[in-house]
Amino acid sequence: MKDIKTIEPEKECSAARGGDAETEVESIPVYRPPLKKIRRFFYRNLGPPRMPLAFSLGCFLVERFPQRIPFTKYASQDHYTFYIPPFGTKAYRRVIKGGILRDLDLGGGPSAVTLAITARCPCSCYHCSADRRSRKNEMSTEAAKDVIRQCVELMTGSIVLTGGEPMIREDHLELISYIRDMEATPQMFTSGYFLENSRVEMLKEAGLDVLFVSLDSPIAEEHDLTRGIEGLFSKACQGLKYAAQIGIRTGISTFATHESVSRKYPELFFRLGEELGVSELTIFDVTPTGKLIDKEEMLLTSEEHRYLSDLQEGQFIRKTGPKIVTMSYVNYPSIIGCFGAKYQIHITHDGYVTPCDFTPLHFGNVLEEPLSVIWNRMRAHPEYRKKTVSCRMQDPEFRRRYIKKIPPDAQLPYPMERIPME
Ligand code: SF4
Repeated sequence: MKDIKTIEPEKECSAARGGDAETEVESIPVYRPPLKKIRRFFYRNLGPPRMPLAFSLGCFLVERFPQRIPFTKYASQDHYTFYIPPFGTKAYRRVIKGGILRDLDLGGGPSAVTLAITARCPCSCYHCSADRRSRKNEMSTEAAKDVIRQCVELMTGSIVLTGGEPMIREDHLELISYIRDMEATPQMFTSGYFLENSRVEMLKEAGLDVLFVSLDSPIAEEHDLTRGIEGLFSKACQGLKYAAQIGIRTGISTFATHESVSRKYPELFFRLGEELGVSELTIFDVTPTGKLIDKEEMLLTSEEHRYLSDLQEGQFIRKTGPKIVTMSYVNYPSIIGCFGAKYQIHITHDGYVTPCDFTPLHFGNVLEEPLSVIWNRMRAHPEYRKKTVSCRMQDPEFRRRYIKKIPPDAQLPYPMERIPME
């Protein structure tokens, strides 16, 4: 039995009582729009699939014709999705321009960077993606600012602070303000452990644009058990609700498993998000990485992917409730495909640069060499030169070629250059 810590929420949040796994879940409305090719052309909203400049064209269109693109749902008046900066900002312009330069191989970098500013965390999740990583060598405030500056020079629009638990770091407000000063969009993924009202207000004052809280289950007791902290679900929901009330854009992020799909948890999360005033719900696919790296039996089936895809593709008929983004849908090569080393990269608390948070392979350390050099090395790798593929970390062939060649006792992320090429 693992240790369970207890925290007290500021006050009990009514929506945070959570659902009941045994209660029948009322399905949310989904409508599959007609004409697959045409709907995908439009719904993708990021331009015609597989064409150069498609991403930038799509960003241009969704800003220019808000709410008029067929088969679409926007996260808010000024956001198509929280994964792209708000319309009309310099960060948004930079994402469009950076996408053009990237597609023409003229120097644009990733549109978004997830920056893990710490590996420290009060939770003890069974699915932690940071397993087997060093807990030492957290980059200094000045080093983190230098990394942020280099991201902006590479035309990155959104910088997403993650961890560990990013709010455990004393300078997280300073870093949020710095991202804002650099005219990029500061976002944060948190467990909600520190989301007292006074601290939510500080996040707003520092200029945080989007606050995502990660929830494992819409049932309070289940969530607290997987995180090892009693009361965390209630506190996280209370924090989310208050953040939305004071004008921070809010999102819930979760991941789908065989069990959660069979219990329709994505739909319970949708209802919870609606109650909390959340604008976007992101549903990742469970990915064998970190503590789960050997658990390939957890990979979702094609029926489960289809259920999740329908939730995103069929949501345009709903006028209320959060926008749903499911990676099952977005990772189709005919939609966006794998984001890694293209639209996004991940940087660990000790400076290692990986294609995404889930990929335990690095291409260099930004504390030792410029980010632009590492980015170019990553982009030149034969695997990442491929045009559009689905999620690599869920692809058995990618796992055979790269992930299974990581020595079982090696610290992660592992250097890509040490993986023997076939
Ligand atoms: S491998 Fe690609 S699609 Fe899969 S989680 Fe990473 S970036 Fe996303």
